[in-house]
Amino acid sequence: MSLRPTLDFLLYDWLNAESLSQRERFADHSRETFDAVFDTCERIAREKYAPFNRTVDTQEPHFDGEKVILPQATHDAHKAYAASGMLSAAQDYEEGGMQLPYTIEAAANAFFAMASVSIGSSLLTKGNANLLLVHGTEAQKQVFARNEFSGRFSGTMCLSEPQAGSSLSDITTRAVPDGDDFENETLGPRYRLKGNKMWISAGEHELTENIIHLVLAKIPGPDGKLIPGTRGISLFIVPKKMVDANGQLTGERNDVALAGLNHKLGWRGTTNTLLNFGEGKYPVGGQSGAVGYLVGKPHEGLRCMFHMMNEARIGVGTAAVMLGMAGYYASLDYARNRPQGRPIGPSGKDAAQPQIRIIEHADVKRMLLAQKAYCEGALALELYCARLVDEQHTADAQAADEARLLLEVLTPIAKSWPSEWCLEANSLAIQIHGGYGYTRDFPVEQYWRDNRLNMIHEGTHGIQALDLLGRKVLMEGGKGLALLAARINNTMERARQVPELATYAAALGRALQQVGSTTQAAWATGNPSDALANAVPYMQGFGHTVLAWIWLDVALAALQSDATQSKAVTTGKLAAVRYFFHYELPKISAWLDVVASRDLTCAELPEDAF
Ligand SMILES: Cc1cc2nc3c(=O)[nH]c(=O)nc-3n(C[C@H](O)[C@H](O)[C@H](O)COP(=O)(O)OP(=O)(O)OC[C@H]3O[C@@H](n4cnc5c(N)ncnc54)[C@H](O)[C@@H]3O)c2cc1C
Repeated sequence: MSLRPTLDFLLYDWLNAESLSQRERFADHSRETFDAVFDTCERIAREKYAPFNRTVDTQEPHFDGEKVILPQATHDAHKAYAASGMLSAAQDYEEGGMQLPYTIEAAANAFFAMASVSIGSSLLTKGNANLLLVHGTEAQKQVFARNEFSGRFSGTMCLSEPQAGSSLSDITTRAVPDGDDFENETLGPRYRLKGNKMWISAGEHELTENIIHLVLAKIPGPDGKLIPGTRGISLFIVPKKMVDANGQLTGERNDVALAGLNHKLGWRGTTNTLLNFGEGKYPVGGQSGAVGYLVGKPHEGLRCMFHMMNEARIGVGTAAVMLGMAGYYASLDYARNRPQGRPIGPSGKDAAQPQIRIIEHADVKRMLLAQKAYCEGALALELYCARLVDEQHTADAQAADEARLLLEVLTPIAKSWPSEWCLEANSLAIQIHGGYGYTRDFPVEQYWRDNRLNMIHEGTHGIQALDLLGRKVLMEGGKGLALLAARINNTMERARQVPELATYAAALGRALQQVGSTTQAAWATGNPSDALANAVPYMQGFGHTVLAWIWLDVALAALQSDATQSKAVTTGKLAAVRYFFHYELPKISAWLDVVASRDLTCAELPEDAF
C-alpha cells in the first residue's frame, strides 16, 4: 500500500492545494515542485527511516556516563533529513528556506511519521527555531534559529517539571539577572537559571554540534518570591554548549546536566530526559547557574511559547494519524494473506471447503473499514487545518481572520481526535493479527505503543477538552463555532443535492444542532464546574461531528473526481463515509447527553467511594 495516492487526492482533488501557487509568497511553486518535494521525502523515509523503525525501538538510548548513545541509523536519518532542506522548507528564501506552503510541508512530513515516528525529532527543532524567528532578536535569530534550520544545532522545548505538567503556572525554575551588566549582552539579557525540567524530548544526544533549549522559568519579584500563576513566566534560550556572538562554540559547557533518561512505553528512538539546570555540575565562568538569554519581554514567556501551538498540535495530530495509517496498511496486508476459517453460508459452514483469507470475514472487514475511516478522515482533517495555517498567513485580511478563528476551534480536535481514534485503529490492527499481533514479530504492537503518547503530551486529552469547551467555543462571542457551523452547513447544502449523500447531509445537520444545543446547555447555569465536568465526552461528540463533516466533504470531491480515480478507490471512500455515518456518528448522543444534562455522576463521587 502506498500513501501517495491518498495524499494526492486529498491535496489536489479535495483541497485544491495547487491554487496556493497563485499567492505571491508561493508564486515560484506549482504541482511539479510540490511533487518533487514529496518524491524526495518519500525516498528518504523509505531508505533512511522505515528500515530502522524496529532498531530504534529495541536499541533504546543509553547513557555511558558521558554521552547518550543512539543507533547509527538515527544519525544517518537526521543527516538525510537536514540535507533535504526540510528543516527550513516553509521559511523565507532569505532564511535559506523554500517558501513552501505549510500544507505541503505538513503533507511531506507525513511520510517520515509513518516510516518511523521517533527516529527524528525535527518538529521540535523547527518549532524552536520558528519561535525565535517570531520573538527573537536579530542576534538570536542569526546565532540560534539559523543554525537550527541548517541542522547544525537542534532544539528542545522545556516546559514541564516533575511537579508541574498540565499546570505550568506551578513551575519553580528560577531565572535571576547575571551580574549588573546583564542587559549588555549581544545574545539577549543574560540570566542564570536553576531548576529541573522533566520529560524533555531530545534533551541530550550527540546528533548535532549543540542543543538549544527553550526554557520556561520565573523571574522572582522584588521580594525574591516567585510570582504566582502564568504571569510570572518568562522564556529563555539556554544552549547546552556556550556560543559566541558568531555562533561558534566557545569550548565551555553550560550548566545543564542530564539527571536521567526516561524509559518509555514507545517512541523510543527519541531520547527523553530529566535535565538539571544550574546545579553547578558545569559552572560557567566559575559560577553555578545555567546561562540563559531572555526571549521577548519578561513575564511573556507562555504567550511566546503558545505562539507556535497550533502548528505543534497539528504536528502531533498528524503523527497520530500516520501511526494509525501504518497499522492499517500492515493489517490490510496481513488480512489479505492469512487463511483462516470458512464462510458462513445459508446452511452454516462447510468444513470440506478450503479456508478463506480473513479479509473475507465480515468482522475483519469491519475492523479494516473502521481503521480506514479513522485514519483517512483524520489525515484529511490535519491537511484541512494545515491549509488554514496557510490561509491565516497569506489570504486577505478577512479570510485570514476567519482561518485564525477556525483554527482556534479545530486545533483541539486536530490534536486529540487522531490521538484517541487512530490509537483505536492501532488496537484494531493488533486484533486483526490475532495472537501474532501481540508479539514483537509484527510491527503493529509498536505502532500502538508509539501512538499511546499522543493523548498525553502537547496538552493531555483532558486539558484539550477543557480548552475546547471552556474557552474555544466561547471566545469572541462564539464566533469560531459559528464560522465552523457555516462551513458545515455549506457542505450539507452541496451534499443534499447528491442522491448518494443526501441522508448523510441530514444526519450531519442533526449532529450539528446537537453540538450547538449541548454547548448552550452545558453553560446554562454559568457555572464552570457544571459545564466542564464532562468536557471529554463533549470533545468526543464534537470531534465525531467534525469528522463526519470532513468525510462528507471528501465524499463530494471523490464523486467529482470519479473519472480520474479507479472505481475501487471511489467505492472505498464512499464506504468509509457510510461506515462513519452508520457506525460512528450515532455515538455522539451518548456523549453529548451527559454534557447537556450536566451529569455529575463522576464529578460528585466522594473519594472514599472509589
Ligand atoms: C514521552 C514524553 C515526551 C514529552 N516531551 C516533552 C517535552 O519535550 N517538553 C516538555 O516540556 N514536556 C514534555 N512532555 C511532558 C508532557 O507535556 C506532560 O507529561 C503533560 O503535559 C502532562 O503532565 P504530567 O505528566 O505532569 O501529568 P499531570 O499534569 O499530572 O496530569 C495527570 C492526569 O491528570 C489530568 N489533569 C491534570 N490537571 C487537570 C485538570 N486541571 N483538569 C482535569 N484533568 C487534569 C491530566 O489530563 C492527566 O490525565 C513529554 C511527556 C512524555 C510522556
